[in-house]
Amino acid sequence: QTALNREKLLKDVSPEVLQLVEKYEGLFSVSSEKLKDITTHFVSELHKGLSKTGGSIPMIPGWVMEYPTGQETGDYLAIDLGGTNLRVVLVHLLGNSKFETVQDKFALPDTIRTAKADDLWGFIADSLKDFVQKHYPEKPAKPLPLGFTFSYPASQDAINEGVLQRWTKGYDIAGVEGHDVVPMLQKALAEREVPIEVVSLINDTTGTLVASAYSDTETQMGLIFGTGCNGAYYEYVKNIPKLEGRLPADIDQEGLMAINCEYGAFDNEHVILPRTKYDVQVDAESPRPGQQSFEKMISGYYLGELIRLVLLELHDAGSFFKGQDVTKLRQPFIFDTSAPAISEKDTTADFAEIKALVKDSLDIETTLDERKFIRRLSELIGTRAARLSVCGIAALAKKRGLEKCHCAADGSVYNRYPGFKERAAQALRDIFDWDCEPKDYPIVIVPAEDGSGAGAAIIAALTEKRLAAAAS
Ligand code: BGC
Ligand code: MG
Repeated sequence: QTALNREKLLKDVSPEVLQLVEKYEGLFSVSSEKLKDITTHFVSELHKGLSKTGGSIPMIPGWVMEYPTGQETGDYLAIDLGGTNLRVVLVHLLGNSKFETVQDKFALPDTIRTAKADDLWGFIADSLKDFVQKHYPEKPAKPLPLGFTFSYPASQDAINEGVLQRWTKGYDIAGVEGHDVVPMLQKALAEREVPIEVVSLINDTTGTLVASAYSDTETQMGLIFGTGCNGAYYEYVKNIPKLEGRLPADIDQEGLMAINCEYGAFDNEHVILPRTKYDVQVDAESPRPGQQSFEKMISGYYLGELIRLVLLELHDAGSFFKGQDVTKLRQPFIFDTSAPAISEKDTTADFAEIKALVKDSLDIETTLDERKFIRRLSELIGTRAARLSVCGIAALAKKRGLEKCHCAADGSVYNRYPGFKERAAQALRDIFDWDCEPKDYPIVIVPAEDGSGAGAAIIAALTEKRLAAAAS
């Protein structure tokens, strides 16, 4: 769809630039064989994560023990704290596999990534107060049940708690790691007299899984390809050895439980992923070096940074942007994923959009050859991200013995990065060696139902039903 014909792109570039292109093609291309090897190792890491000793993939039991029937009904509030936005949603579950939502999006302040914990919870509670006042002009008789989608690794012994293991996606707010976030939010709500009770906490991938399963019974995975990356699926309780001794007596061993894999942490021990020196640099300058190795090679928070590091190195080696002031280019994370995305979408003859991008964001003038190089580099980094991304899906499918299923996906990279969907489907084909037409691929990545709020609401409904059943 977007990849320009390589020959055409590179036809008139100088031999020096051509040589550079070839060098980075070597560094950033991932062969089908390599994808297969990564997937095989990934499967063993998924097993390890579920074992008593554990591994580097957290495989967090999500305490969602039912597959929705689509018949659940009721009104629920939900919030989704993502990397960039806070969404507050009122969900009407209509039954018949349908739901409607009313939502408000609040942009998180730029400073929130490194704010104080009170500022974070205060911001959320204020936004909720706003929303409740708007939609419930009369004070509700009893607290409104709220499902909280928290897109970070949080350990749970029950559905209504979540102890943050560590921040990801560049977040670095002190005093939250190691603590249950639910009472923190509940306290900020109480201080503002907002009539809300947080009844469940889920990961965004679990929300995506459940919301899509509500409307499509073939759904087996919930995936996020966004600022961060991750997946959730249902596992048999009997296949989760680390739950032994932690389970209430009434839980059915033959039943299922949603697992938030947190597979962004795959290969933290650096044995299989084809890390380049740029990946090593991205990791070193992030607030949590050594964590989220897989995520740092593929997710939206990091793709622009990879481009920046390569361009800076080329400048420092005397190849690019000769004689120009590169102060801005020296600034970590000045490029977000829109940089490679814009570069890949540019269809103008002389790459005027790449020219404007570099000029506007970095104050740097580019030659046509430099722009062609940026275009090719973006293709390489975008393609590598898509190809590596699906190793998580392939590994989950193999682990569960799924030969045919729908994998519901959401996130800015999945939804907006040019060519991501096609490249991801192609990479799955390369791993499984399907010899059919793309439309007949048995494992299909499909766009999720708006998971962020609905999933949390459906889970809140399922939880209420289960608690009511247990009490009667
Ligand atoms: C977080 C996950 C989340 C993913 C996608 C990762 O950085 O650790 O909890 O599901 O991003 O938002
Ligand atoms: Mg999100």
